[in-house]
Amino acid sequence: MKISKREIKQKFINIISTIEYICLKLKRTFMSVDFNNTEIAFHLKSDSELERAYFLFKMISIEPLVRIGTAATNFALKAHLPVEGLIRSTVFDHFCGGVNEDDCLPTIDRMYASKVYSVLDYSVEGKGEEHKFDSALETILKLIEFSKDKAALPIAVFKPSAFGRFELYQKVSEGQQLSTAENKEWERIIYRFEKVCTSGKLNDVKILIDAEESWIQDAVDDLILKLMQTYNSDTLTVYSTLQTYRWDRLDYLKKIHARAKEFGFKLGFKIVRGAYMEKERQRAKDFGYKSPICETKALTDALFNATTTYIFSNLETIHVFIGTHNEESTHLALKLMNNLQISNADSRVWFGQLYGMSDHISFNLANQGYNVAKYLPFGPVKDVMPYLIRRAEENTSVAGQTSRELDLIKKEKRRRNI
Ligand SMILES: Cc1cc2nc3c(=O)[nH]c(=O)nc-3n(C[C@H](O)[C@H](O)[C@H](O)COP(=O)(O)OP(=O)(O)OC[C@H]3O[C@@H](n4cnc5c(N)ncnc54)[C@H](O)[C@@H]3O)c2cc1C
Repeated sequence: MKISKREIKQKFINIISTIEYICLKLKRTFMSVDFNNTEIAFHLKSDSELERAYFLFKMISIEPLVRIGTAATNFALKAHLPVEGLIRSTVFDHFCGGVNEDDCLPTIDRMYASKVYSVLDYSVEGKGEEHKFDSALETILKLIEFSKDKAALPIAVFKPSAFGRFELYQKVSEGQQLSTAENKEWERIIYRFEKVCTSGKLNDVKILIDAEESWIQDAVDDLILKLMQTYNSDTLTVYSTLQTYRWDRLDYLKKIHARAKEFGFKLGFKIVRGAYMEKERQRAKDFGYKSPICETKALTDALFNATTTYIFSNLETIHVFIGTHNEESTHLALKLMNNLQISNADSRVWFGQLYGMSDHISFNLANQGYNVAKYLPFGPVKDVMPYLIRRAEENTSVAGQTSRELDLIKKEKRRRNI
C-alpha cells in the first residue's frame, strides 16, 4: 500500500508530539523544579543588592568573625554607639523588611508581583512583662487588620513567648500547681491566643504559631489543639509547628491526628527541623535527661521526610506549611504531590522560606505555580538583633548553609557579567 507524503508528514508530527508529551511527563516526574535557575531566583535583586548579598554571606561564612561581630554589636548597641546605620545597610536590610509594617510594603509588593506571598513576622523577642505581652497582642491584631484586604498577606505568625511568661509555660508543661495569680496569668495567655485566632478566622488570615524550646511546648500544644478544634473545621485557620529534630514528633502527630478524626476537626501544621538544637542538648545534659533531639542530622532529615509523607497521605485532614531551605525535602514534597496528583496550587500545601535566604527555592517554586510565602521579619533594629544573630550563626561555615547561597550568588554574578 502506497502512503502519501501528507500521511508520512502527519505520522511524523504525531510521533514528535508523542515524544514531546512523554518528555514533558518525564520532566515533571524526574526534574521537578530546577532550583539552579539563578535568573529566576535573583530577578528581584539589583546588581548592587546582589553584590551586597555576596559580601554578606562571605562575611558570615567566617565563624570567628560572626562570634566577634555579635559580641561587638551587642556591646555597641548597649553603649548607644551609633552603629544602627551600619547594621541597617548590611545584615538588617538583607534579612528584614523594615522597622514597621509600612516599611515592608515595597518588598511585599515586589515579591507578590513574582507570586511569592509574605508572612509579616514581628521579630521582637524576649519581653517578659504583662504590658509587653498585651502590646505584642495589639501588634499581631493590627497586623491581621493590615493583612486582611491584601492578597499578598494571607498568613500571620506569632511566637508563644511573645504572649506569655516563659516560666509559666514551663510550669504548665510540667503539670505544676499554679497559684491563683498564675492561674489568672495563664487565662490571659489563653485569651491572647484566642483573640488572634478569632480575628484570623473573621478576616480570613491563617495563623501560624511558631515552636520554641521543647520544655514549654506541651502547654503550647494542648492550648493550640483546643484552638484547632474550635477554628479548623471546613476552612483552616490555626497552624501549629512540628520540629522534626525532636524524635517524638511524628508519634505526637499520629496521636493527635487520631483525636482530630474522632472529633471531626482538621489539623494545620508548619513543619520545620528546629532552631534550638544546641540549647536543647545542653539543657538535657545539665539536668541529666534524655535529649529530645535526634542524635544525628540524618535522623532529623529522615523524620522530616517521614512526617511530610505522613501528612501528604492525609491531606484531607492535615494541611501543611513546609518551612525549609532544604532542597531534598522540598523535592520530596513535589514528588509526593506529583504522585498523588495534587495540583501545584492546592491550597492545602504551602512552602515557606525566610526572607534573605533560599530565594532559589522560593522563586523557582512560585514560578511553577506552587504556594510560597516568605517570613518577612520587621521591628526596631536593636530589637531584631537576636533574630539577626540566629540567622548569622546558622549561616556560618559550621552550620553549612552559606556555601550553597554563595555558589548560587556567584553563578548569578557570572551570568550577569558583574
Ligand atoms: C518559614 C520557616 C519557619 C520556621 N519556623 C520555625 C519555628 O517555628 N521553630 C523553629 O524551631 N524553627 C523554625 N524555623 C527554622 C528551622 O527549624 C531550621 O532551623 C532551618 O530552617 C534550617 O533547617 P532546614 O530544614 O532549612 O535545612 P537543613 O540545613 O537541611 O537543616 C538544618 C537543621 O537540621 C537540624 N540538625 C543539624 N545538625 C543536626 C544534628 N547533628 N543532629 C540532629 N539534627 C540536626 C537542625 O534542626 C538544623 O537547624 C523555620 C524556618 C523556616 C524556613
